[in-house]
Amino acid sequence: MAGRAVAFRTRFAPSPTGPLHLGHAYSAILAHDMARAAGGEFLLRMEDTDLDRCRPEWEALIVEDLAWLGLTWDGPVLRQSDRIAEYNRRLEPLGDRGLLYPCSCTRADIRAALSAPQEGVAFAVYPGTCRGRGMDSRTSGDALRLDLNAGFDALEGEALTFTETGAAHAGTHPIDRATALARIGDVVLSRKGEDIVAYFLASAFDDADQGISHVIRGEDLFDFTPVQVILQHLLGLPTPVYHHHALVRDEAGKRLAKRDDARALAKFRAEGATPADIRMMVGL
Ligand code: GLU
Repeated sequence: MAGRAVAFRTRFAPSPTGPLHLGHAYSAILAHDMARAAGGEFLLRMEDTDLDRCRPEWEALIVEDLAWLGLTWDGPVLRQSDRIAEYNRRLEPLGDRGLLYPCSCTRADIRAALSAPQEGVAFAVYPGTCRGRGMDSRTSGDALRLDLNAGFDALEGEALTFTETGAAHAGTHPIDRATALARIGDVVLSRKGEDIVAYFLASAFDDADQGISHVIRGEDLFDFTPVQVILQHLLGLPTPVYHHHALVRDEAGKRLAKRDDARALAKFRAEGATPADIRMMVGL
């Protein structure tokens, strides 16, 4: 895939489940401008593994909105839905190492656990009901979970840290077993029958394969960075530098979501706003 090593390569990785709003515009412009200022590259990736919610129309609108904003990206758009079989194949060795277990807990729980986390929605740490089940007991509907504690055992002696350059948490962050077990726990990584994989896993593979040096994304994903770093270590993938930025909020202080159509870029566009107006609205 990316091949050539570039000192600064970042990406914008929306899920095409709705129109882009001002918060996405902020994230995309920031990542684009940081890459261009560094003489680096800016890539576009569609995180469309949730086949029920992602639509080609939304993807087309995202591309249209980004082009209208004046952003240019390097290389073709990567689409995660093209790579699901590959993610699953590359996950298998972790099962052979005793780091995964099949889980038959309910579909709704698992679906929710697979998507990117949302602010204000408490992340439920899995109580470990199916932990201890062997991979040979796996049935077609089972999900695969990471045995996080076994993962830490496998990484004993490795320095698990990541560097953050976003203002709110700038510095080096060591990853602590007790905190990760209490806050993240045994995350779901894939569900084979439905051919879906967790956002955490797909983006860990993609960031490595695309040679991403800097991940620039919203603050809401900061707390989940440790699990991505653990997966990178278990899968032999490099850890990029992370830059989590503040979220654009509405007048009431609430984070903008895709359902807030009132703040959709397409709407501002239709009302005659210019890309410069959008940059001003988001403080860039
Ligand atoms: N696809 C994620 C989202 O739309 C972004 C993930 C990332 O940038 O790492 O929230």
